[in-house]
Amino acid sequence: MRLILVGPPGAGKGTQAVQLASHFSIPHISTGDIFRLNIKGETKLGLHAKSFMDAGNLVPDSVTNDMVADRLTHPDAKNGFLLDGYPRNIGQADFLKENLEKSGTPLDAVLEFKLENAEIIKRLAGRRACRGCGATSHVIFEAPKVAGVCDSCGGELYQRPDDAENVIANRLAVYSEQTEPIINYYKSEGLLKSISAVGEVSEIAARAIAALK
Ligand code: ADP
Ligand code: ZN
Repeated sequence: MRLILVGPPGAGKGTQAVQLASHFSIPHISTGDIFRLNIKGETKLGLHAKSFMDAGNLVPDSVTNDMVADRLTHPDAKNGFLLDGYPRNIGQADFLKENLEKSGTPLDAVLEFKLENAEIIKRLAGRRACRGCGATSHVIFEAPKVAGVCDSCGGELYQRPDDAENVIANRLAVYSEQTEPIINYYKSEGLLKSISAVGEVSEIAARAIAALK
């Protein structure tokens, strides 16, 4: 299964990606996670990406495309993959298409998560991420057992700089201007499946799997 997840920030793509990757036994490839790992490790790539990310803008395609192309050559992606957070504009979608055509391994499906703007803002503003394992939670909707502490690994929870309220508006604008156009792009290729991102995590996971059958 070669699968892409698309949806606004805060739609829960990351949470669902973990479940879907395990269901289909494919690697979960999140460009946001790869960038954050590089920032944490203070690599050249991380230093370059940080200023774009903190402002809620896209990291330039020249950097992102090569990073993904390289990741897709890893042995674990041989029999499929789940891309979470990529492509995020038409240029990236074109690049990916060409890259996959070259290897004769076209996409199987693109799964869109739909969510209202008002709900997105509520989710992002209360979202917290773990410094240890990267898992996300929410101060109200998915409160950890102990405030500020990750349920999965005991790591410290923090607010991502791009979840700050003044950055959220820009991320939503970037999403509607740059990312939303790829939804029609994949629709015209006959690859698009859309589901609502409202509800319990398990409910949405079941919806996603049903849509991909
Ligand atoms: P979210 O889905 O909540 O916006 P991500 O972790 O997917 O969070 O992305 C965080 C940030 O990482 C983005 O706002 C952007 O700066 C950068 N980023 C992630 N994926 C891409 C991509 N495909 N192209 C450019 N920038 C990206
Ligand atoms: Zn953790």
